[in-house]
Amino acid sequence: MTGITHGGIMTEIRLYNTRTRQAEPFVPLDPGNIRMYVCGPTVYDRAHLGNARPVVVFDTLFRLLRQVHGADCVTYVRNFTDVDDKINAKSAETGRPIREITDETIGWYHADVDALGALRPTHEPRATDYVGAMIAMIEGLIAKGHAYAAEGHVLFDVRSFDSYGRLSGRSVDDMIAGARVEVAPYKRDPMDFVLWKPSAPELPGWESPWGRGRPGWHIECSAMAHELLGESFDIHGGGIDLQFPHHENEVAQSCCAHPQGQFARVWMHNEMLLVEGKKMSKSLGNFFTVRDLLNRGVPGEVIRFVFLSTHYGKPMDWTESKAQEAATVLRRWRGLVAGIEPAPRPAPAVLDALGDDLNTAGAIAALHGLAAAGDLAGLLASARVMGLLEQGMGDWAEVRQQSDLLEALVQRRQEAKKARQFDVADFIRNELAQAGIELRDLPGGVVEPNTSADQAIQWSQGMTEDELERLKGADGSTDLRALIEAYQQHVARRVLERLE
Ligand SMILES: [Zn+2]
Repeated sequence: MTGITHGGIMTEIRLYNTRTRQAEPFVPLDPGNIRMYVCGPTVYDRAHLGNARPVVVFDTLFRLLRQVHGADCVTYVRNFTDVDDKINAKSAETGRPIREITDETIGWYHADVDALGALRPTHEPRATDYVGAMIAMIEGLIAKGHAYAAEGHVLFDVRSFDSYGRLSGRSVDDMIAGARVEVAPYKRDPMDFVLWKPSAPELPGWESPWGRGRPGWHIECSAMAHELLGESFDIHGGGIDLQFPHHENEVAQSCCAHPQGQFARVWMHNEMLLVEGKKMSKSLGNFFTVRDLLNRGVPGEVIRFVFLSTHYGKPMDWTESKAQEAATVLRRWRGLVAGIEPAPRPAPAVLDALGDDLNTAGAIAALHGLAAAGDLAGLLASARVMGLLEQGMGDWAEVRQQSDLLEALVQRRQEAKKARQFDVADFIRNELAQAGIELRDLPGGVVEPNTSADQAIQWSQGMTEDELERLKGADGSTDLRALIEAYQQHVARRVLERLE
């Protein structure tokens, strides 16, 4: 048996399967090679915050599977769609070569998801590297009577696949009634979808039995999943917005091309992201990219924590106050685990919560329990299974270093603002400002105290020899960080006394 055990019992993982509409024990097809496919981005622009949710959700599942079954026993594929009309449009608009645009966007994407603490998947295939496999799959579908060529196009015949609609729970006739389907003269049925389409000379294209053209979007994932994971694999994930038509079409293509396989056994869909209770949209002015948030000083680790505080199957409401709370919790935890070695294994309570259909909110509650019980080694090991408190992701917590009393004071000011006691909030801000500690309110609810080193040094000139001795570092000179912290403590105590 592979994997870790606690109390002699291996962590059981149960996952809600969209295909069967129930939570099921997760039993890998091959425990030595658990295979997961997640639909990745179309690379023409920066990832918006909603795009980042599946990245964090399925990264957490990837980490859990590696923890329970062994780090070498999980293959995770997430693709890049690098052939698409939006990319072509951007190229036409800017005059830049397509490859330059897609390479640049992939670089941005990596930088953004790295900042969120997401591990790189095992494979990140680019669609344009698999066009040969797509053509072969389309030829197979035509040979089996599931697809037909017409006017340079190849279309999938949805009426040839009895189970069409099963994943999303709708019948073909309902779909026709409810969807805005493209009616085209070459289609036998309005629901038939494109596997291949002709390309004009100025657009990207590949030679095929149906002339020069390019693949439809859905066939990409079917072909890449087949090449890298085989005819049957364990988990297919993505946002709920992809369930229909994209995932429905993937199932149809793959199950018809490889009827002996099962394609994906478990389908998982994360719900959508809201911002302050509203759907994110450019017209509402609440649309932002991951990079926008990072640039505004919201750390990637904080974004990740906020995402994980809501179960993936529920809509996630991004709010400034959640980001602020997450920053406070993470800063406190980072302070607690400083210098601590992680326990050899995560706490059972955290693994059990994650194993319960990725109950990340429950796992965070269990982390709070470990912190409260003083099990700091357990806290660190358990947080890391969720991609939190990782090394190299905590610089933000150190840069915004603040003493306990200053943190208490900042907290007090936030509470005063919430209670609309603006005189109290202003008093705190002004008193600190006079002492050279400027509070910067960053979007995302993060407050960054900026302390004047000059004023701290000036203050230190009134110190006794003994007091100064305590601020000296290993090399015998005064440690500026320690001095600033002592100064913050001194100023904050004075302001708190005046507030009494
Ligand atoms: Zn896909």
